[in-house]
Amino acid sequence: MRIDAERVKPLDMIFTVDLEDWFCSPELSLADWKRYPFRLEKPTHLLLDMLDEKNAKGTFFVLGWIAEHKPELVKEIHRRGHEIASHGYAHRLVYKQSRLEFKKDIRHSKSLLEQLTGSEVRGYRAPCFSMTEWGLDLLEEEGFNYDSSLMPNSFAEESSGLGGYTNPGSPFRIKEGLIEYPLPAHRIGSFHIPWAGGGYYRLYPYEMFRYGAKSWMKHHRYFLFYIHPYDLDKEQPRIFQSTWTSSIRRYYGLGGTHRKIERMLTDYDCTSIEHYEHQAVGRVQHG
Ligand SMILES: [Zn+2]
Repeated sequence: MRIDAERVKPLDMIFTVDLEDWFCSPELSLADWKRYPFRLEKPTHLLLDMLDEKNAKGTFFVLGWIAEHKPELVKEIHRRGHEIASHGYAHRLVYKQSRLEFKKDIRHSKSLLEQLTGSEVRGYRAPCFSMTEWGLDLLEEEGFNYDSSLMPNSFAEESSGLGGYTNPGSPFRIKEGLIEYPLPAHRIGSFHIPWAGGGYYRLYPYEMFRYGAKSWMKHHRYFLFYIHPYDLDKEQPRIFQSTWTSSIRRYYGLGGTHRKIERMLTDYDCTSIEHYEHQAVGRVQHG
């Protein structure tokens, strides 16, 4: 960890990217994905350049299907010093798969990514945060060391299978061999307001996001941020507008994301989960 007495930034922020394209949605079947044009390379390069400029690192949760179709992009992300983790193969919600289907999905995607990069894949994030209790058991069995799918969210149309867990606010041991990196969500009474990124990041003005992040860090000494390449792509086709909430969550504020991320990378030292782990030995709560 860089130790600098002059530092005004109290803690690093964990920067994560869910590497998928604009059409990789559970609302479309895998067979239909081929009909749509790839758009993720340009916004991914934009993210990589912004991270490089600030000498920052991130964890990229890569979809196996993307790794198959864009192997050079995944290799480049790895070559530029970022951690490659898994977002599964086909972006299917965990709680809509059988245990056998999920096991095959995570095993196949882990092996694809490891063959591409030559590095061990240690982390997993469930598509749309759809993790389940049995899914965690299988992650552990398949050799993953951490999960990052716990995000209490009162705006979600379907609740995650991890609804039984209280978010302690910082990493904790969720299974004997598995650490959970939860996503910040502010709680007002029984209401959970996501604060970690994605569509919610586009929705909140930057100053408001920073205020919430600061308050979270003050209480938990931890913050994890996530974004998708399509969150920076204001020209993307707009086909997910079935409800006004899905339309806002998907398309609001696309033009401002780039600038907001630049400001965030200036305000915080951003790092990957892998680097955070090295810096934070002993910081993970047990129990
Ligand atoms: Zn995703």
